[in-house]
Amino acid sequence: MTQSEPDLSAPLATAKAQLATAVGILGYDDGLHAMLATPRREINVAIPLRRDDGSTTLFTGYRVQHNISRGPGKGGVRYAPSVDIDEVRALAMLMTWKCAVVELPYGGAKGGIAIDPREFSSRELERVTRRYTSEIMPMIGPERDILAPDIGTNEQTMAWVMDTYSVNRGFTIPGVATGKPLAVGGSLGRATATSRGVVHATRAALADAGATLAEVSVAIQGFGKVGSHAARFFAEAGATVRAVTDQYGGVQADGGLDMPALLDHVATTGSVVDFPGGDPITNEALLALDVDVLVPAAVEGVLDADTAAQVKARWVVEGANGPTTIEGDRVLAERGIVVVPDILANAGGVVVSYFEWVQANQAYWWTEQEIEERLEHRMMTSYASVAEVARADGLSLRDAALVISVRRVAQAHQIRGLYP
Ligand code: NAD
Repeated sequence: MTQSEPDLSAPLATAKAQLATAVGILGYDDGLHAMLATPRREINVAIPLRRDDGSTTLFTGYRVQHNISRGPGKGGVRYAPSVDIDEVRALAMLMTWKCAVVELPYGGAKGGIAIDPREFSSRELERVTRRYTSEIMPMIGPERDILAPDIGTNEQTMAWVMDTYSVNRGFTIPGVATGKPLAVGGSLGRATATSRGVVHATRAALADAGATLAEVSVAIQGFGKVGSHAARFFAEAGATVRAVTDQYGGVQADGGLDMPALLDHVATTGSVVDFPGGDPITNEALLALDVDVLVPAAVEGVLDADTAAQVKARWVVEGANGPTTIEGDRVLAERGIVVVPDILANAGGVVVSYFEWVQANQAYWWTEQEIEERLEHRMMTSYASVAEVARADGLSLRDAALVISVRRVAQAHQIRGLYP
C-alpha cells in the first residue's frame, strides 16, 4: 500500500468517511467539515513501568478529545497492543456522535495505552494506570473529560484512575471516571448497561419489521463485557443464542446455547472454547452463520467487503465500535441487511455512565429500577428518532444517526461562535 492509497479499512478512515457522508447530506462547507473531522486536543504520554522483577518497560499512552462543544469529553480507555493515535482518534470521534445521538451533554474523547494487559500482573497494571492518569491529569476531570472502561480495562482500572486523580487534588472526586465499583461511587446497572442497550436496540429494530426477540436466533462475536451480558439478556428475552465466539474460538448449538452453563464454563476456563454444550465454530464462520441477528461485539473492522458478502443475518446490531468497514457497510446495504449502527446500538454504556456521573456529582444514588427504566427510555426514544429520520429522508440507520448527531454538534459550534 502506498501513501496515496489510504487503508480504507482502518478505523480512522472509516470514521472520517462516515462523517464525510453525513456532511455531504447536511451540505456543510469545507471549513465546518474540517473542524468536525479534527480532534480538539490530544496528548501523547510516555509511561515507564517498574516491573515486578525490577526491570523497566516503557509504554506509550494517549488521550484525545475529539470535540467538547456540547460538554466535557467522555470516553473509555483501551489497553491493547493495537492502540495507536489513529485508533484513539477514530474512537474519540465515534464518542462525539454517540453522546450527541442519545442527547448526553458531553463531547467525545478516548484514551488508550499500547499494552497487552494479560502479560502483566495486577500490581504492574495498577502502576501503569496511575502513571497514565497522572500524565493526562491536566486534561481530565469531572468538568473536563471523564474516563470509562473499554477493551482491556475494567472497574478496578477506573477505581485506580479515580484514586490517583483524587489523591493529587487532595479530596475524593468520583466524577472523573465512570464504570467504577459500587463501593467508590459506581452506579447500579452500569456493568451491564451496554449489553442491555444492545438488546433494547435490537428489540426496537425487530419491532419495525413486526418481529420480536422471542422468535429470532442470534450469533454474537466477542464474549467480554458487552458480548457475554448481551448473550444472557438475549436468552432471557426468549431469543435463541445459537453461537458465540471470543478471540480463542467459539461454540455453536442449533437449538441454542445453555447460557448459565456457558457463563460458568467461561468463569472457570476464561474462554467459550471447549464448552461441552455445543460444537466448535470459528470467528469467520460465526459471521456467516444462518441466524436472524448478528451482533459483532469484539473488535473493529470485522465486517469488510468479503465477510459482509457472507452474512446471512437480516439484522446486524453493532455491539462493538466500528465493526463494519465502509466497504462492508456498502455490501450489507446492497444486500438489504439492516445495520443498527454502533453509535446507537452500544450507547447504553455511555448513557448509564452519564447517570453515574450525575449521581456522583449530586452525591445521591438512584435505585437499579430507576436506572434500568431511564436507560430503556433513552435507548427506545433515541432509536425512534433515528428510525424516523431514516424513513423520512430515505437514509440507512447509520446515516440517519450520523446526520442527527453531526447536526447537533455543528449547531453547538455555531451557536457558541468562534473565539476570538
Ligand atoms: P472486553 O475486553 O471485555 O471483551 C472483548 C471480547 O472480544 C473478548 O471476548 C475477546 O476474547 C474478544 N476478542 C478480542 N479480539 C478478538 C478477535 N480478534 N476476534 C474475536 N473476538 C475477539 O471488551 P468489551 O468492553 O466487551 O468491548 C467490546 C467492544 O465493544 C469494543 O469495540 C468496545 O469499544 C465496544 N464497547 C464497549 C463498551 C463497554 O461498556 N464495555 C461500550 C460501548 C462499546
